[in-house]
Amino acid sequence: MIRNFRRENRCDVGAFWGAAQTVTGSKFLVEQSGVCALVDCGLFQGAREWKNRNWNEFPVDPARIDCVVLTHAHIDHSGYLPRLRKLGFRGPVYCTPATAELLALLLPDSGRLQEEDAAYANKKQYTQHTPALPLYMEWEARETLQQLRPVDFYASLELAPGLAFSFKRAGHILGSAMIEWKTGGRIFVFSGDLGRPAQFITRKPDDIERADCLILESTYGDRLHQQIDVRRRLMEIVQQTASAGGMLLIPAFAIGRTQELLFLLRKLEEDKQIPQLPVYIDSPMAIHALPIYNRRSIDASAELQQLAHFDSTPFVCHHIKALKTVEESKQLNDITYPAIVISSSGMATGGRILHHLKRRITDHRNTILFIGFQAHGTKGRFLVDGAKEIRIHGKIYTVRAQIEYLDALSCHADYNEILTWLSSVKSSPEIFLVHGEQGAGASLAQKIQDRYGWNVTVPAYGQTAHL
Ligand SMILES: [Zn+2]
Repeated sequence: MIRNFRRENRCDVGAFWGAAQTVTGSKFLVEQSGVCALVDCGLFQGAREWKNRNWNEFPVDPARIDCVVLTHAHIDHSGYLPRLRKLGFRGPVYCTPATAELLALLLPDSGRLQEEDAAYANKKQYTQHTPALPLYMEWEARETLQQLRPVDFYASLELAPGLAFSFKRAGHILGSAMIEWKTGGRIFVFSGDLGRPAQFITRKPDDIERADCLILESTYGDRLHQQIDVRRRLMEIVQQTASAGGMLLIPAFAIGRTQELLFLLRKLEEDKQIPQLPVYIDSPMAIHALPIYNRRSIDASAELQQLAHFDSTPFVCHHIKALKTVEESKQLNDITYPAIVISSSGMATGGRILHHLKRRITDHRNTILFIGFQAHGTKGRFLVDGAKEIRIHGKIYTVRAQIEYLDALSCHADYNEILTWLSSVKSSPEIFLVHGEQGAGASLAQKIQDRYGWNVTVPAYGQTAHL
């Protein structure tokens, strides 16, 4: 499917330095009109072969990059920023206002997690390298926040004469945007992560009428979401776990999924469809994000649906408890009554969820519920694929807990939803498919060609396109 798209008669360059045939590490280097910009600056996550790329020498001198433009706050789109700064980047980082608010939580948390993981690896001596080092520290992540420059949705920002961009709504999480990049009379659109037309709290993605080039995500390029009643299935899972006397452990991205999930749980409680169990949010970041979500859910112009009719705290279950410290998190180990624990990371690649998995996964009364995309090589993927045992922190655990996968709670469009969204495009864009695993991109490319007849490319890591 990869074809040579080098066209020497064009001078603009785009290079795919992440999310090329994988779903993490989004980074696209764009050199146009004398400006060197990086679109998204994500961390590679998941299997070691990907994570090791975070340590690679950056393909250009970071000090040479004029600016970074971010589609949204998720770490696989933003988490390399502190590293880029550490390597010399000092330019502005443009993002939507809500993304800037969320990054103030996410980036320091990412630094703290890396420090914790490195310290734990050193303590337990399961590291390949001695000593294990964090990619960056929490304080370095905090310094990076000074470079954020919020730009409102739909406002045009000129980077150079004839080169401007604006943000449109992507409908993925709070603050998520597509980037409409205009230069020399042409329009490039970076979809970022594309949301779904019908979510519980996030509004649907904006249509785009014209694009000459579209850099499009393909996470679900070869898959459709489960066609099920999400509310009903979640209700059943909570009921079953509660009657078994077990714990419902939900690995969730702290930003986005956790809030959709809390909203659903609260609704189920209100409608008396589930018992009012203790709900532990074991993620300081998810807790701190709640006021941001609350505030923006009552603003009609924001990217969230209006939830104010519900009440002023649509994300707060009746017996919710926010765990802020590691000590509080450890105390969950002693709980023997039915409860719900929501903890990141969503693919069980790191963070506190690993400690809860070790404690709960060997007991058949417990349920582990995955609610978003699970990338190849992650513990989440192994478990939803039916692994009978799992290695955590160097030790093997037998899987006896019930493993459930509620993929329909995903915040990525599936291929039908992408194809429908593309129907609003009146031009015939050249398409580059990114942010999809091998197979997903190729599959979606074929579908787009069959339906629309457009040129589609699935670029490889580090490949350069003269657009
Ligand atoms: Zn995302």
